[in-house]
Amino acid sequence: MIPRPAFLSPLNISEKLTLICVATTAVALACVLTAFVVQDFRVVKRVKTEQIQTDLAALADQVATLVHANTLTPLRKLLSESSKEHGIVTAAVLATNGTILAGHPNTIDSLQNFYAQANLDHRRQFGHVVYQSVLNWQGQAQGTLLVGVNNTDVEMRLFFMLEYAIWAFLLAIALAFLVGGCVQKIVSAPLKSLQKLSQNIIDSGDYSLRAPVASQDELGQLSVAVNRMLAQIEQRDTMLEKQVSQRTAELRKMAEEFRFRALHDTLTGLPNRALLVEEYPRILAHAQRAGKVFAVLLLDLDNFKNINDTYGHDLGDELLKQVALRIRGGLRGEDLFCRLGGDEFVVLVQDVDGIDDVRRVGHNLLQALLADICLSERCLHISASIGASIYPAHGEDLTELKRNADIAMYRAKEAGKNQLMLFDRRMEQQAIFRMLVQNDLRDAIFQDDLELYFQPQIDPRQQKLCGCEVLVRWHHPKVGLLLPGDFIPHAESNGLVRNLDYFVLRKACIAAQSWRRELGLTVPIAVNFSGIHFRCNAIVATIQETLSQTGWPAELLTVELTEAVMIDAPETARNVVNAIRKLGVKIALDDFGVGYSSLHYLRTLVVDEVKLDRSFTMDVHHDEKERRLVKGIASLTRDFSVALVAEGIECAAQAEVMQAIGCHILQGYFYAPPKPEAEFIAWAKAFNERNYSVHFSFSYVIPA
Ligand code: C2E
Ligand code: CA
Ligand code: CA
Repeated sequence: MIPRPAFLSPLNISEKLTLICVATTAVALACVLTAFVVQDFRVVKRVKTEQIQTDLAALADQVATLVHANTLTPLRKLLSESSKEHGIVTAAVLATNGTILAGHPNTIDSLQNFYAQANLDHRRQFGHVVYQSVLNWQGQAQGTLLVGVNNTDVEMRLFFMLEYAIWAFLLAIALAFLVGGCVQKIVSAPLKSLQKLSQNIIDSGDYSLRAPVASQDELGQLSVAVNRMLAQIEQRDTMLEKQVSQRTAELRKMAEEFRFRALHDTLTGLPNRALLVEEYPRILAHAQRAGKVFAVLLLDLDNFKNINDTYGHDLGDELLKQVALRIRGGLRGEDLFCRLGGDEFVVLVQDVDGIDDVRRVGHNLLQALLADICLSERCLHISASIGASIYPAHGEDLTELKRNADIAMYRAKEAGKNQLMLFDRRMEQQAIFRMLVQNDLRDAIFQDDLELYFQPQIDPRQQKLCGCEVLVRWHHPKVGLLLPGDFIPHAESNGLVRNLDYFVLRKACIAAQSWRRELGLTVPIAVNFSGIHFRCNAIVATIQETLSQTGWPAELLTVELTEAVMIDAPETARNVVNAIRKLGVKIALDDFGVGYSSLHYLRTLVVDEVKLDRSFTMDVHHDEKERRLVKGIASLTRDFSVALVAEGIECAAQAEVMQAIGCHILQGYFYAPPKPEAEFIAWAKAFNERNYSVHFSFSYVIPA
């Protein structure tokens, strides 16, 4: 690599080119002029020397003659005259012995004097030059002629030439500067325009700009190459831009899709919880600005779990889609309708005019579900329970409003489902209690906080104890004693009732077996079972297993169930009931007469006992109409060969009437309220003694 002088670095190309031009010219010119001046000097000097030497030779001949003749005066004259011609300044004729014979000027009398006169100086190159010529006369040496010649003309010529050369040099430099300026323009102009172009492209990012092509030389070719490169970049840019815009559009679409998915329920396409949360502040702000009220309606399908369990999830999903369509159809466009998950939906009804307005919307929703929903396989009749809370009365934020609507919805379920319930501050306490129950019941089952109470059942004809109903109690460590009505509904809603009932059955069998073994007291037991058990036949195996493990005879066990078991899946329930009966266990239809299809169930379900609801007993002793009703039921059960049990006997009159009507078993406070185990045993013993009967019968004869 050629080393670059550092001083060149800060210069731009045109300066560099000018400098190079000037420098090259200077160097070249300096060399040429120097050569020229030197050559000229040498030629002039040589010509002069030759001329002087020729002249001097002639002079020397004349001087030799005069010296030989020893005529000094003519000699001096000759010297003086000669000096006028050839620029001779000093002259001296030396004899062979070195003495000065004659001199010019006359004052020269010695050799030193001659040199002094000649004004010679060794250091001077120019000025006077001394020539020497040997004087010969006819071959004899006559002495020496020394001549000091004025050489300044040669010197002057040299100086003139030098001056000339310097002027020429300066002129040439000036010209070189001008020419260099022009040349650099030829070279640097295209470079500058390339540089300007690249700067413009950098500033504007516009690759459609092109460099002007002013020549066909390398710079022109460079411009063409740059233009081609720009064209390629532009083409690639356009392609990239197209690709980028394509990708951007795809990404935007994807982002929209993701957003939609994130904010909507995949099954029904309805807004989901996330969208509700996102939209809520807007709805709230609108309500606050306009001083309006809005309502949160929480809708939960009734018995949806049963449908799912019975017909499968595919049908359940199909049903949810249809429900979503029905409900959407019953709403205004501005109402926000979301699916929270499962069979739970939320409707945010804006700008409501009061409670009546909320009730009207809720009523519309319930109406929308009234007609059967026909799916691919079957038509289903469904209903929903709705809980409603109102902003701002029931809360400010979504969480609170939703929680309160949920509490109200729960109440709607408890109150018999298929209805709307508006939140009420009193419900909060109930909800807290429900939470408490649900949280603690599991522990209660396993920690033995549940206690069994036993209520005697009497055979009125023989005045004998013929059985007892097992009723559960919960000693809650914080709340105190809880009756089944306080916690069974909650245990049913979270499925815990299964464990509870199995626990009661097992404990009851163990207790009754111990009375039989240890006290010789055989009392048939009747255990209550929730309707939940009758949706699948697992209960059959559990009963069988419990009986075999505890040793309690199947025929001494009655399973009490209510008509509710038939509502969800009548076919399965019927099969389960039959399977239980096959074990030898009796089935009692509890709370008979309160449901509107009691008689229908009596016809379709094979049972051993019917337990008349307490409400029939209440007025039977003083109300003829009631009496007739019970009589009708009694004759019906007789037709079906089913034993009739009267519950809620609180006085002797009721017992008497019921016995007269033909009830086989009586149960109620009149005999005894449900009692803890020890008390029940004591009572049973006392009852035995009082009725002087030690024989307990558990088989009864159905009167004709
Ligand atoms: P149920 O099967 O109708 O039980 C009879 C209820 O009537 C009992 O209430 C009993 O204390 C009450 N009773 C009995 N005699 C009289 C009377 O002369 N007058 C009045 N006013 N009431 C009387 P309890 O013990 O509170 O049970 C309520 C309900 O809880 C039961 O109604 C039963 O359906 C359910 N239950 C009780 N224990 C269990 C259980 O272990 N499992 C399930 N699944 N349900 C249970
Ligand atoms: Ca019962
Ligand atoms: Ca009952």
